[in-house]
Amino acid sequence: MSSPHEVPSYLTPPGIGAWGVYLEQIDRVTPYLGTLARWVETMKRPKRILIVDVPIERDDGTVAHFEGYRVQHNTSRGPGKGGVRFHQDVSLAEVMALSAWMTIKNAAVNVPYGGAKGGIRVNPKTLSKAELERMTRRYTSEINIIIGPNKDIPAPDVNTNEQIMAWMMDTYSMNQGSTASGVVTGKPVSLGGSLGRHDATGRGVFVVGCEAAVKRGLEIKGARIAVQGFGNVGGVAARLFADAGAKVVAVQDHAATVVRSSGLNIPALQAYVAQNGSVAGFPEAEQLDNAASFWSLDCDILVPAALEQQIDRDNAAQIRASIVLEGANGPTTPEADDILHDKGILLVPDVIANAGGVTVSYFEWVQDFSSFFWTEDEINSRLTRIMREAFAAVWALAEEKKVTLRTAAFIVGCTRVLQAREMRGLYP
Ligand code: NAD
Repeated sequence: MSSPHEVPSYLTPPGIGAWGVYLEQIDRVTPYLGTLARWVETMKRPKRILIVDVPIERDDGTVAHFEGYRVQHNTSRGPGKGGVRFHQDVSLAEVMALSAWMTIKNAAVNVPYGGAKGGIRVNPKTLSKAELERMTRRYTSEINIIIGPNKDIPAPDVNTNEQIMAWMMDTYSMNQGSTASGVVTGKPVSLGGSLGRHDATGRGVFVVGCEAAVKRGLEIKGARIAVQGFGNVGGVAARLFADAGAKVVAVQDHAATVVRSSGLNIPALQAYVAQNGSVAGFPEAEQLDNAASFWSLDCDILVPAALEQQIDRDNAAQIRASIVLEGANGPTTPEADDILHDKGILLVPDVIANAGGVTVSYFEWVQDFSSFFWTEDEINSRLTRIMREAFAAVWALAEEKKVTLRTAAFIVGCTRVLQAREMRGLYP
């Protein structure tokens, strides 16, 4: 599909995918930015893009090359911050969109960062552990010129985890000649990681989901939850909802969909996935043959926590949930936003719902700088407070302006970024 937006010459208009979704979201918020709209073009242009070739020697002696990216969308409010994704569908347009959503998110929850994101176009499941390490280290060396504790701080995203962050931290530190724990977040706790970071995104999703449920008069105890994506975000969110007495009636991952109307046993499912790599074949559930029918399952809260553009004009009309809680980044297209809104479904947007991860990443970075570490209770209670306050502020603005929660969150985020832009002024 061609794009209605002007796109830079380094993107080919057909297939700009997630970047096109982001541009449309910016168009929707522009009328609410008042005089700051003068600066809105800033939001439509990533500040800096680095494309790197990542060559590695395979275990069999051959050489493989992978495309790597790091995009710093905006640094008006502070250093770049955002995850690194290893996935076979990673593209420049996708990383641009993910970096831009980080800009909005960091401003919406008011952590002092700009927005950035990185990725390698690779299916990491095809690599051995040694190959994965070599690829991670070479990628880190290649982007070394633009990252750093005060410049741009990567973190985990799809298919990256504590181990990948440890290799990135070590590689950067080796190049610097001293240990720089603040260069990445989401590290193992033994290397300057933060207690609570592993669960933080899913915990934030859960906290904001509970706030949204209150607004809807929905009891969490007994509520039926369906989750797409059972990794870091979806897995933790599912566990916390189940712990709170909700019934997780369906889980979908890249390989299969499992359903159980009385509620899946989440710890058992997590143990099964750890062993088998997917929910496929989980014995204590029914398997759904048609993946698309996941969207029409009867549930109260639907949590997309996998990839972008999963809820689109083709399946939005089938959704029966009362609340859509975006654990993933960019899971809903603008057309689907409108359909859900017309159906009276409450959508809690990614830039608020999944901001718990970057919030605790911020705590980790602060702890690394001060070399003073907080307790898990302290971290979780600060996280909960920030998430609740961000949700309440966005809710109040949405009511005042009569806009969706997404537009309200974008108003808060864009206003903070563009105020900083205006105050700093243009250099030179
Ligand atoms: P992950 O790699 O831990 O898990 C991804 C999950 O999605 C896996 O269960 C995988 O099987 C599933 N999946 C992949 N393709 C799928 C498909 N086509 N259909 C259904 N399921 C599919 O990744 P994660 O860290 O949980 O990230 C998930 C989403 O949350 C991404 O959009 C990511 O950008 C976003 N996010 C992550 C964090 C974080 O801290 N990890 C923070 C904010 C947002």
